Amino acid sequence: MPRHAFDWIDAQAEARRRAGLVRAVRPRAHDDPLLDLYGNDYLGLARHPEVTAAAAGAARRWGAGATGSRLVSGSTGLHAELESELAAFCGFEAGLVLSSGYAANLAAVTALSDRGTLVVSDAGNHASLIDGCRLSRADVVVVPHADAKAAAKALDGFAGRALAVSDGVFSVDGDAADLPALAAVCRAHGAGLLVDDAHGLGVLGDGGRGSLHAAGLTGAADVVATVTLSKALGSQGGAVLGPVRVIEHLVNTARTFIEETALDPAAAGAALAALRLLRSEPERAAAAGEAAQRLHGGLTAAGLTAVRPDAAVVSVRAPSPEAAVAWAAACRGAGVAVGCFRPPSVPDGIARLRLTARADLTEQQVDTAVETVVRTAPAVPEPAPGRTGAPG
Ligand code: PMP
Repeated sequence: MPRHAFDWIDAQAEARRRAGLVRAVRPRAHDDPLLDLYGNDYLGLARHPEVTAAAAGAARRWGAGATGSRLVSGSTGLHAELESELAAFCGFEAGLVLSSGYAANLAAVTALSDRGTLVVSDAGNHASLIDGCRLSRADVVVVPHADAKAAAKALDGFAGRALAVSDGVFSVDGDAADLPALAAVCRAHGAGLLVDDAHGLGVLGDGGRGSLHAAGLTGAADVVATVTLSKALGSQGGAVLGPVRVIEHLVNTARTFIEETALDPAAAGAALAALRLLRSEPERAAAAGEAAQRLHGGLTAAGLTAVRPDAAVVSVRAPSPEAAVAWAAACRGAGVAVGCFRPPSVPDGIARLRLTARADLTEQQVDTAVETVVRTAPAVPEPAPGRTGAPG
């Protein structure tokens, strides 16, 4: 039998099947009756009429696609407005919009580090920060999760260029970084601080201005944030926020920014409309956090192990990856859609149900979700050890 180039894929697929860890894309129906605790639309803005109208209006005015990269034909007035309003809202000098949060992280890490830079990266960081570290060719030291002392130790005695990178809110367990402690370590060592606030924007800080705003660190000369437009802002895209000279440096050097087609106008328009809603209706931010606390309270009162949420993500421990998959399927069968984290999205041995709270959930919906997750729980929910973060 001739050997085919991709035969090796079958062995991997079989191993996945045996472990019950096959992933498949499942289209969502637009009128899906499921109670949604798996999306990241924290403020319920993705379907807000002002946001969808802004998307449609932008597409009509500028076209369905951006037509080119930001440095060629892809920059519209919407991109510029979004950049300045987002930066001002979060407390930074300047902003730069990219096609996704993932691209924003790749751009920020690679532009701020290079061969010979020491990058100190939290073990729980999102895959996009990790991939940015890998692309940068910097010397990367992965430090234990949320351990500022370990970050200090990694930086001790290093006199060259250094950068600490951390999620503001970790995507798997929903816990927040201790940013004041990390910033103090960075300052003491002359290191820059880059924080991915994908899950903090819109939920944490005054009126949803984010983790760095809550920590009093925005506007600092040595602090840069990345955000996504795809979670609390209900749209699509990402941004880097920071001092003007950092943003100008990215415009000139960040390959993901320079080489990709710009964020499409509809997404920019939608994000801008959502940002303006967030600014005029700051109560949405608090409501998302309150829903998360209610969710957490109900689950823990029923004996499940859920990490206390600092923002809108509530993470429930499952006994094994297979059990997590079955548990999420049982919830879905009962009308409640929840997320499920297991390898390879997280390190081996980690399994979680991941529930996302939203500002527009009623208390009754939260209670229904709690009741469903509790009723469908595996018989002996033996917690997996340790807190964690995203993949390495
Ligand atoms: N950072 C974190 C912490 C995330 O959770 C995500 C999305 N899952 C991203 C970055 C990537 O953002 P985007 O989906 O906009 O590419």
